Amino acid sequence: MGYLPRVRVKGSTSARVAAFVLALLASPAPAALAPADQQTLTASLIAASERDAVPACGRAHAILRRERYDSADFTGFFAAFFARQPLTEPLSACLARPALHAPSERTREALQEALAALLVGEIASILDSHLSDGRGSALGSDPATFEHLRASMGLLGTIAFEGEHLSRASRAAHYDRLKAVIEAHPDVLEKHVTLDARRQPKLAALRAHLYKNLFDLRVPIDAADFVAAAGFRGRYAALVRDHGLIVLDNNGFDARQLEAIDAVLRIIPPGLHAVRHISQHELLGNTVGGKPVVRFRGSPGLNVFGTPVDGAAVNPFPTDSEPVVVPRFCAVLQHELNHAVNAHAVRGDRALSRRMDRIIEQAGGSDPRQFLRSTLPEGFFATHRQEFFASIANQYFSDSVETLLLALRRFEAGWREPLNQFLFFADVYSGGSDTTLFVAQDPDCNYSVHTVPIGRDANGRIDRITWQGVELQFKLDAAGNVIR
Ligand SMILES: [Zn+2]
Repeated sequence: MGYLPRVRVKGSTSARVAAFVLALLASPAPAALAPADQQTLTASLIAASERDAVPACGRAHAILRRERYDSADFTGFFAAFFARQPLTEPLSACLARPALHAPSERTREALQEALAALLVGEIASILDSHLSDGRGSALGSDPATFEHLRASMGLLGTIAFEGEHLSRASRAAHYDRLKAVIEAHPDVLEKHVTLDARRQPKLAALRAHLYKNLFDLRVPIDAADFVAAAGFRGRYAALVRDHGLIVLDNNGFDARQLEAIDAVLRIIPPGLHAVRHISQHELLGNTVGGKPVVRFRGSPGLNVFGTPVDGAAVNPFPTDSEPVVVPRFCAVLQHELNHAVNAHAVRGDRALSRRMDRIIEQAGGSDPRQFLRSTLPEGFFATHRQEFFASIANQYFSDSVETLLLALRRFEAGWREPLNQFLFFADVYSGGSDTTLFVAQDPDCNYSVHTVPIGRDANGRIDRITWQGVELQFKLDAAGNVIR
């Protein structure tokens, strides 16, 4: 039996805590935790359910980290706890820390196993009971149950993706349990069914998180089994099979947008990023005041604008360059996916990460023309370092040759850094090999990709690029910067 809102204790917080603890202690052996630990942990977790309850969370951690408790002890405790108290986002964050980072491997394993099993049970029982009659409309009108479900999906996502001690057998069992929920409610939960955000508020976003949980639980994912189980069809199924990516849009993207997603993903070598979902929060009915209500926790993903491909267009090049106008939808996709390349391939590699920091620093903060993306305000990349790489992608993925010409023109005019930036981006896309990729794009988001030979100096740094039979040579200094 999972969390049921009707058994919640009413009254002030302190009265609720006292009544709760008494009830918990009076019930027959709800857990094998020592009685004093049960009492402190219960009171601390109730307090940690509110925002900014750092000391309470710390008191809970002290007990959760005791090595003498195993998975069965925690299962007993949390089953009793969640029967009376909903999981909240702050409590979920508080529990994730010891589950993932407790010093003892035994504790991490015990918490990951106990929490994942309980959370899957909570998610399954809430969805089963709410979808049997009202097609999920009650989820939108019962804030405590919604919060419990949202936080349960979030914490499960975190443990499924980062929990290195969650066993294969548990993962398979949890995957099958969630799969059974979809099987029991195919007319609401299968992906090919478009939900009505007014009649079933929040359900499209919760359903999207359910796919995310399912997708993260089984490692590696069996794409054929997943698409059949979750009801992904057509292009959505193809994106899962071809790119290991789920699109969370309540079926709101049109064919051209889905084609564009496929096209950009075909350009980026899969080893360079770790993106597992692309979402569109507005299409999911998942925003209040511009912010997502359900945040998708687990493996990395990104959210894009819903602009149609033939909607707004942008030119990512400055005035000392030829304009290259591309659809905003694709410009955003290029940018966001390259944030993921930055996080995975650049920040995940010490040498590339150090080199990127170096070239941002040496470009300085006073003259935007020292950056390829010089249309951004003075000092922008000094304070927004995380935008540097993704920003170059706006140009490189729209027209790599024009980006190179811009860098060369600036070099001749005395701004030497854009050329170092171009070579850095080309180096990341070389994956350490002797070729890199040049990309061009037409006004309809049709990409063309060319494999371009490169050469390296004795230190492995790119000092030659061959484009259309012409070899461009660069002389580098000891630090790897172009001097002529
Ligand atoms: Zn950005």
